[in-house]
Amino acid sequence: MTNAPADADARRAIPPVICYPNETLPEPPLDLYRAARATAVKTDEVLVPARDARCFTVPAGHFFRISSVEGAQVGDLNLHNLNDVTERFYSGKTRALHGTHITTGERMWSNFPHMRPMATIIADTLGWYGIDDFGGSVHDVIGTRCDPYTGNLLADTQYHHCCHSNLTRSLADHVGVNLDEAEPLVHDVLNVFMCTGFTRDTGQYFMKASPVRPGDFLEFFAEIDLLGNLSACPGGDCSSEHSSDAASCHPLLVEVFSPAQGTLAGWSSPKINQYDRTHGRR
Ligand SMILES: [Zn+2]
Repeated sequence: MTNAPADADARRAIPPVICYPNETLPEPPLDLYRAARATAVKTDEVLVPARDARCFTVPAGHFFRISSVEGAQVGDLNLHNLNDVTERFYSGKTRALHGTHITTGERMWSNFPHMRPMATIIADTLGWYGIDDFGGSVHDVIGTRCDPYTGNLLADTQYHHCCHSNLTRSLADHVGVNLDEAEPLVHDVLNVFMCTGFTRDTGQYFMKASPVRPGDFLEFFAEIDLLGNLSACPGGDCSSEHSSDAASCHPLLVEVFSPAQGTLAGWSSPKINQYDRTHGRR
């Protein structure tokens, strides 16, 4: 323990400031998206098996929905630009812009130097949950993805159906590359339906039973052509443990919807970030 200075309480009492005030973020045109969604017809569906992952594609201007089916289950979602898989979801910056958990009207942002919205959440049947008394909420961008390396470090295990491995196999199969090429493209996820937070006393990442029930869904508008990769986490509803076959697990359903022609008049895919990338040189 270090000795506290005489003015410790005064220093602690300084109010926080928001790191990235987001009032100047461009507002997604939710009314336009919803009007288009009302005309949309289903064009594809992928059932993600329990403790496994599957890829799916969504053209820009289309919609995709992730639904709970059969039983409470959380999903680990990766997003790539379909035309350049190195442009991918940036969990950390999404967290900095929107907070620890995301819901309707918030967006999944891509990595540098692109840094643009990849997808916008347009519907969330768990939007009622809010923040519970433990500080928990749903759909987090604070976890990474369960992975075999951490399991090996903490428990000396060799478990092969963590989300990281599921996403790696799925991406390798879809893109047609080997596991070593696919693995570095797998990235920190949106934890769909997962209920998480940080403990107030120790600041540790916690999970608790997801409030999701069959029929619940999270729905997105694709801002760019997307390659999605979704793992049905071996943690199931994440009420007890992950990184093993102990939890009861269920599939997740992904559905893709195409809007009627002309319903997105005036809309276009977001441009990549306009920073000039000279980094102080030249
Ligand atoms: Zn997982």
